[in-house]
Amino acid sequence: MMEVKQVLHMNGGVGDTSYANNSVVQKTILTKGMPILEDAILDLYCTTFPKKLSIADLGCSSGPNTLFVISHIIDTIKMKCRELNHPLPEFQMFLNDLPGNDFNTVFSYLPGFYERLNEEKQVGLGQCFVAGVAGSFYGRLFPSESLHFIHSSNSLHWLSQVPQGLQNEMGISLNKGKIHIEKTSPPNVFRAYLAQFQRDFYLFLKSRSEEVIGGGRMVLTFSGRRSSDASSTECYFQWELITQTLNDMVSQGVMEQDKVDSFNIPYYAPSIQELEAIVEIEGSFSVDRIEIMEIDISTSGAKGIRAVTESMLVDQFGAAIMDDLFRTYEQKYVEYLSNNKSNHISLVLSMTRKG
Ligand code: SAH
Repeated sequence: MMEVKQVLHMNGGVGDTSYANNSVVQKTILTKGMPILEDAILDLYCTTFPKKLSIADLGCSSGPNTLFVISHIIDTIKMKCRELNHPLPEFQMFLNDLPGNDFNTVFSYLPGFYERLNEEKQVGLGQCFVAGVAGSFYGRLFPSESLHFIHSSNSLHWLSQVPQGLQNEMGISLNKGKIHIEKTSPPNVFRAYLAQFQRDFYLFLKSRSEEVIGGGRMVLTFSGRRSSDASSTECYFQWELITQTLNDMVSQGVMEQDKVDSFNIPYYAPSIQELEAIVEIEGSFSVDRIEIMEIDISTSGAKGIRAVTESMLVDQFGAAIMDDLFRTYEQKYVEYLSNNKSNHISLVLSMTRKG
């Protein structure tokens, strides 16, 4: 079975199919959620005026969005400090992602980033320290009570593994011919996905609860659903189109049926109710805000999906067919969006560590 930790990474570098060049939708989502992030960081800052702030961005990837977030956090605090005539705090910024992430590209941006901080934002050298942390956020990443603020965008819909229970006792796939929850998937399939999300999100909260100080804040943005019905497929059309593309390739004899049957994407978009239930059971955080954001993706390209999913598809189907696969996918994508209104749904969750 695919090891998400080892396989999943957004396309690295800065080429045509890279995440760096194909993350406009994610940037739109980030920007739309910014007011909630700003409120949380200002609230935190203005209750204790810490001299040092330790902040982590989880699932930072590599591209323009990576430094955009930490830069915006610094800007927000800087404006407040100016208004109050306070000295700027020192910032310790941790950028986390899985070990396969292209940290080299991220690090190569840092000299320019520090320079701009110095020039534009007059945040003197020695006031902001950026470090990379490679590891899964479904487990501990930082020492106890060492962080004031955690941010994560567009990452927590990735599960730690393909859900268990997608095969029967005989090892036969319950989700034959599909790679995710679809209308024709049997109930065991969406139950398995929900159960995996519950386990993962619980572990995420538990791990963060050890790392964040009492009163510390956390703002998370990731894919979600409007519908409280776990069998709802309202937000999975991209996966359906990949399924169709793969099945076309099976019919043409260039892909084995088995490979499609045994592949499932480790991705889940929860409802607000599902999230609230897990936060409550875990118990360390109180929810300050939880909101649904709708993003028009009609202008986005299919390349965005390639940048995000290619590592997993290569692991299962091999690199040789990727260009063909995504050529067909792109046609289907354009056709689908010309006939359907399709909005991406994201949830923003702002929380405070109790105690
Ligand atoms: N935050 C950026 C990047 C989002 S892409 C933005 O909003 O544009 C999602 C990132 O989450 C990927 O880089 C992926 O590698 C990372 N990710 C997925 N599962 C993870 C895990 N368990 N631990 C750490 N990072 C993970």
